[in-house]
Amino acid sequence: MVNAKMMRRINKEVCLLKDKYGASNVNNYPGEDEHDVFVLSLTLTTPYKFNYIVHVDIHYDYPFTSPDVFLISKDKTSRTLYFEFFKRCSEFYIRDNPFPEHECPCCYNMICRRELNTPIVEIIQDIERYDKQLVRLRSRYYATKYLYKTNRMDADIFNIVFSYL
Ligand SMILES: [Zn+2]
Repeated sequence: MVNAKMMRRINKEVCLLKDKYGASNVNNYPGEDEHDVFVLSLTLTTPYKFNYIVHVDIHYDYPFTSPDVFLISKDKTSRTLYFEFFKRCSEFYIRDNPFPEHECPCCYNMICRRELNTPIVEIIQDIERYDKQLVRLRSRYYATKYLYKTNRMDADIFNIVFSYL
């Protein structure tokens, strides 16, 4: 539970999230007293049909402190900050596969760049942005591994294909 002024802001944020992601995909769990964390839970389906379960921990002094945005494992036993998840996943694919447009999830995320009036819905869109980047990264990784390194495609054609991934 949080104080009344912050509650107005959170209600507004919940409305924005429900408008964008569907009312049934957004739930909230206010704590019991006003220093408890207010938890928003969201099921997010990205354009690539990945489902993420997202928990947003809103602290009692929000918006002065950032919310913590976690991805929840399928079995619901563990959670990780979303930008750390995308950082760990992308490290593997990017190792032998330079991707100049790649934006490092730990350095360029919306939690770092947020201002006091940045709505939570914008932070959630950051998950979609990194999900899309990860999909591109994987396409490039598999293209390099299977199409080029196994010599099934000549270098010129490969470079053309690669420039679209
Ligand atoms: Zn970084």
